[in-house]
Amino acid sequence: MKPTAFSYHRPRTLDEALSLLALHGFDAKLIAGGQSLAPMMNMRFAQPAHLVDLNALPQLKGVTLEPDTLAIGAMTRHHELATSSTVRAACPLLAQAAATIGHYAIRQRGTLGGSLAHADPAAQLPLIASTLGARIEIVGPAGSREVSASQFLIAVMTTDLAVDEIIRTVRVPTALPGERHAFEAFSRRHGDFAIAACAVTAVLVGDRFASLRIGVGGVADVPLVLDDLAAGFAGEKADAPGVGRIAQAVANAVEVRDQPGISAAYRRDLVKALIARALQRITAGVTQPD
Ligand SMILES: Cc1cc2nc3c(=O)[nH]c(=O)nc-3n(C[C@H](O)[C@H](O)[C@H](O)COP(=O)(O)OP(=O)(O)OC[C@H]3O[C@@H](n4cnc5c(N)ncnc54)[C@H](O)[C@@H]3O)c2cc1C
Repeated sequence: MKPTAFSYHRPRTLDEALSLLALHGFDAKLIAGGQSLAPMMNMRFAQPAHLVDLNALPQLKGVTLEPDTLAIGAMTRHHELATSSTVRAACPLLAQAAATIGHYAIRQRGTLGGSLAHADPAAQLPLIASTLGARIEIVGPAGSREVSASQFLIAVMTTDLAVDEIIRTVRVPTALPGERHAFEAFSRRHGDFAIAACAVTAVLVGDRFASLRIGVGGVADVPLVLDDLAAGFAGEKADAPGVGRIAQAVANAVEVRDQPGISAAYRRDLVKALIARALQRITAGVTQPD
């Protein structure tokens, strides 16, 4: 199918883009990489009368290292997240996860802001943003505001974003000194969305986990961040029994969706296996598969 007719706008400034959103309201839709919106328009699930293209806005581009934070423009492509030396050094978990999104062509066009705004529960970037405690800067007619990724992601394809707002920057805390990380995902075919995914960071002191962060994606309406559970495992031995205890606890704790063809029990088992694999990778010091 082809999309319904629409007017195309290519604003050159953020103010111009905001004015177009204010003018056209629910009839307008922003387009970034088009990797989610274009298929939805082709299938006529989305029928915007006005398409506002963000690709000519310099304010939404660029990756800047700030103290303890990486400020990433909303229009940063998945490919740049995966390959930028700045991102790989400051937020290696983000780079590792971005490299696994879809296929090469999708990563060339898809953007960080688009993935967050689309809010697919199985998508990599909402999971990483939630797990790392990223903050999302949103601009609108009243100026700018900032919310945490967990506040931003409300439900399946539902966010805190108003119809006249634009994501400008995503601020991701940089990795702690000595922090290790692992991203693990399972999908039926290479390039498909994950049935379950997990993101883990850990600092090891001697043979014990000194601090852990654990996020699980693809199993519920939004990414699950298990901060309290992870804090309870500070001091746990970083050996096979310790890894097994953590993986089992995570699997027991997550709320899991039942879907035709993918039972909740299967998904829970998958979470256990993925967490165990991530922790094994971390304890072995092998965190970047490439
Ligand atoms: C075959 C295929 C496989 C894929 N596999 C995966 C996968 O494995 N993992 C994964 O995570 N993703 C996957 N994707 C989705 C891909 O990552 C998309 O790029 C991403 O979800 C949306 O980013 P975009 O820049 O293309 O956004 P667009 O499609 O342009 O827009 C998506 C939505 O975000 C809104 N939007 C965009 N930018 C902003 C902004 N700055 N502020 C406010 N709203 C904004 C748009 O209005 C729209 O509602 C796949 C896509 C395809 C086609």
